[in-house]
Amino acid sequence: MQQSTAAFPPKPDASTRADIPIAVAEDVRLQPKHATDRPMKPFTWRSIQHTVRDRWRYVLVVFLALCVIAALLMWFVSQGERTTTELLIAGLALAVAATILLVGALDLSAWRVRQITNTVEQIAAGDLEARAPAHGVGDIGALSYAVNSMAERLERQSRKRNRERDRLHTVLHVMTDGVIMLNKHGYVSIINPAAARILNVKSDEALNKSFVQVVKDYRIAEVWLNCIKYNLEQSSTLELANEAYVRIIVTPFLRGAANGYLVLMQDLSHLHRLETVRRDFVSNLSHELRTPLASIKALVDTLRDGAIEDPPAAEHFLERMEIEVDEMTQMVQELLELSRIESGQAPLRLFPTAVSLLVEPVVARLQAQAERASLTLNVVLPPDLPEVMVDADRVRTVILNLVHNAIKFTPPGGYITVSARSVPDTSPEAVVISVADTGIGIPAEDATRIFERFYKADRARSGGGTGLGLAIAKHTVQAHNGHIWVESTENVGSTFSFTLPLVNLPLTKN
Ligand code: ADP
Repeated sequence: MQQSTAAFPPKPDASTRADIPIAVAEDVRLQPKHATDRPMKPFTWRSIQHTVRDRWRYVLVVFLALCVIAALLMWFVSQGERTTTELLIAGLALAVAATILLVGALDLSAWRVRQITNTVEQIAAGDLEARAPAHGVGDIGALSYAVNSMAERLERQSRKRNRERDRLHTVLHVMTDGVIMLNKHGYVSIINPAAARILNVKSDEALNKSFVQVVKDYRIAEVWLNCIKYNLEQSSTLELANEAYVRIIVTPFLRGAANGYLVLMQDLSHLHRLETVRRDFVSNLSHELRTPLASIKALVDTLRDGAIEDPPAAEHFLERMEIEVDEMTQMVQELLELSRIESGQAPLRLFPTAVSLLVEPVVARLQAQAERASLTLNVVLPPDLPEVMVDADRVRTVILNLVHNAIKFTPPGGYITVSARSVPDTSPEAVVISVADTGIGIPAEDATRIFERFYKADRARSGGGTGLGLAIAKHTVQAHNGHIWVESTENVGSTFSFTLPLVNLPLTKN
């Protein structure tokens, strides 16, 4: 049996979606409109009376007309001697008049029936709003009524079906999982936008094509073929050609006489990416801890092998061990801080703050370090900057990380400028703080990744950092509902910028 095909997705338009919440209200409004103003059921005692009365009306009219004709004939005869021919002609004329009258009376009924026939034909052609004219009472009136109430029932059912179809389309349209319905021969009868996106095909082109032709991947087809073979739900997780990770579930279904298959596709790419990030994190963390631990182990071995007897050497080794331990402690503290910010366990203490109070203390603190590295550290703040709603300590840490990086990655003689500007034309209105340097820059392929934890653009030149500073900066800025980005050119310099919300702007995080 051929399963019906639905040209999905016709994106539900506004009127369709508006229909859904008022479905019940519409049903109530859908009352008989024309012939049922005086509802009357056929074949009741009243209707039989009406029918008889209706027929008698014709009989009475014809009877009266015949009386008039007979009177005319009698008058004609009483006007004197009439020849047989004259009487014949007069009789013929009156018979013709009587026939016309009868035919007219009959034709009136036929005309009413014709009107009802037209209506039925319109309904049959799909115009469910067509209605027969109200013909009062009697047989024809009852027929009108029956046709109209049938049309109304059909219209109600059709609206109900349309609403159900619209609901199904809306659900399928907004679903993030891909859904494909196949008929028993494996031809696509429904495909939703998510499935089309996952398979990288156009919905209308996929309709009525065979599943194998649409998926173009033997592994997916195999899941379906197994489902046919065992008549049981089958599933599999696959990496598709477009690097998407997808779980395919194929279920056989039986609906009435028609059976087919439902294919569900769950895009697991996001979960897979998270899993990769988690794995990278664990391996990076192990790597970062292994180096200082190996170094401490070597120092301890050296001390045990005799260096402990040499006080100046022992002192030096102990200092080296302390540095390694301090580095590990800092890393662990930064990791803890990062996880607290991410999980929202470190609520922000937000207060209206002048931008100068965020920038100047940091610059003052790092000025000496910049001078030691032969760098010029400047601040450029316009006088009329609006106040920002921030947790000042945390934002200072962000600026400290950025300026500290700028010092680390800028060769002697370079310039570092910390500036701020208000951007009233953005939504929401914000202040942008930037840290620009004339340093080594960041390769384009690393620019998108440097905000990941432990990511170092150039490990050889990374200057011994933990690779966590920018991750902390990103999460702190995001917790303030802002965003952070970098513009950089290798061997020319980098500019890190981030936005901060103005006072009275709502925050979404923490
Ligand atoms: P780190 O502790 O290693 O500095 P960050 O998260 O602060 O960790 O920075 C990550 C990486 O981004 C650095 O290792 C470096 O490669 C790159 N980077 C950060 N800031 C700059 C900068 N101003 N100039 C060039 N490279 C930078």
